[in-house]
Amino acid sequence: MIWRCPACHRILTPQGTVLTCETCGARYSVVGGVPDFRSSEQRSADDERQVETAMSIVEGPAAGDREALIHAYFGARESQFTGGPSYTAKRIAGTLDGFEKLSREANGWLRPLAKIDGVILDVGCGLGATIAAFTELGLECIGIDNRLDLLIVTRAILQASMPAQRIPELAAADALRLPLADASLGAVIYYDVIEHLPDAVANAMSEAQRVTSPGGWLALSTPNRFSLAAEPHVGVWGVGWLPRRFQANYATTRSGVDYAGTLLMSVSEVAKVIADNTDFEMKFNAPTIPTESIQSFAPRRATLARAYNSLSRFELVRGIMLKVGPFFHGIGRRPDTSSDTSPHRPPG
Ligand SMILES: [Zn+2]
Repeated sequence: MIWRCPACHRILTPQGTVLTCETCGARYSVVGGVPDFRSSEQRSADDERQVETAMSIVEGPAAGDREALIHAYFGARESQFTGGPSYTAKRIAGTLDGFEKLSREANGWLRPLAKIDGVILDVGCGLGATIAAFTELGLECIGIDNRLDLLIVTRAILQASMPAQRIPELAAADALRLPLADASLGAVIYYDVIEHLPDAVANAMSEAQRVTSPGGWLALSTPNRFSLAAEPHVGVWGVGWLPRRFQANYATTRSGVDYAGTLLMSVSEVAKVIADNTDFEMKFNAPTIPTESIQSFAPRRATLARAYNSLSRFELVRGIMLKVGPFFHGIGRRPDTSSDTSPHRPPG
């Protein structure tokens, strides 16, 4: 097992459905095959009922069918969504598209990760699109998220499409307190995640640095604060251009979807926080819009998307799109110091 105690980063001993840290005495339960490393403050008041619902979904008629599991999961959560049934339908469609999208991206801008030796961690793995994409490429990819009920369903989704001995390890954990040893990973991915860690991105990046080995990779994708397009979570234009303190209220009022806890960053804000807290050497890019997505757009939107893609061949335009395009990607690696300084060299 790759997981370590999130408090002291030491080895855990399994005893039935409990993992015990012999070093600091901490105990963590394992529910539906998923260790729960969250602190009690991170659990919602409704956590137990949510987990029961998830268990009944994965043991019910949807078992073994990825699409049915995704429908059942969002269906069960519909009453919690302020956006109502149309929002639920959007989340289902977005999740299903996500599996196709991540498959393409694992062979696109995330391609450097497909060549690494070590384990890939997907932080905020959701229903497992990124993990599925890298597992299909033959890599070991593990995932954490902050919802245990979600991960129980994610495990069933991954089980539905791969042999039992390859089911990736998942854990409920805090992005700021990773249940992993120092330098134990080849890469860490934050796909549409850092915008949900307001005021904590610096700490998250320090954690990514801690768990990644020298020469290891960091990859992230996030909506652009200064996008000329609508804010992608709520479909409201211009949220990021407002002063920070007005954004949540404005987005919630205009969309009817709760926007608290989301904060978009610009490329230069992300570049600075990574440079200030880690030694990852990052390159940022504005993605083009995939042909497969354009085919499903209405005619006017498809024309705009094609124009955007063809303009993005020009370096000047790419520079502009990085500033005002809807999304951006960052990928980079730590310097590989293993050849000139041995981490195991005895002191003196
Ligand atoms: Zn411990």
